[in-house]
Amino acid sequence: MGVLVGQLRFLRTINSQSQSLKTHLWWGFFGKCPRCGKGGIFFNGLSIREKCPACELNLIAHDVGDGPAVAATFFVGILALATALWLEFTYQPHMWVHFVVAVPVVGLGSFLFLRPLKGILVSMQYRFRDVEQDDENLGQM
Ligand SMILES: [Zn+2]
Repeated sequence: MGVLVGQLRFLRTINSQSQSLKTHLWWGFFGKCPRCGKGGIFFNGLSIREKCPACELNLIAHDVGDGPAVAATFFVGILALATALWLEFTYQPHMWVHFVVAVPVVGLGSFLFLRPLKGILVSMQYRFRDVEQDDENLGQM
């Protein structure tokens, strides 16, 4: 029974959204609010705002925490490893050259991957997880 109720809530959540999945992915990629698509969801780089400045959506309820960091670590790790291997087998430089190249690749790559991933996950959480309904159920347990 619990699974059926969960599936019905999932379908209701999908049908209640007026925007398409592609629109939510696009807004998330660019760090826009998952409800209105106008307000930005980030401040200070990677922190999630408390509320959307345009529509006042409670963004803290949709904060995904460190979830996108795992995916970003895999992407950036592969990118850094590929860069280090290419550099080593092509030019065979000193170790300090690897350090000078790897630090910007990992630093910039982490920031560039993490921000869109975090925005997309916030947008997907808004679309597929009914946070307001979860908050109402907390009092009934
Ligand atoms: Zn908004």
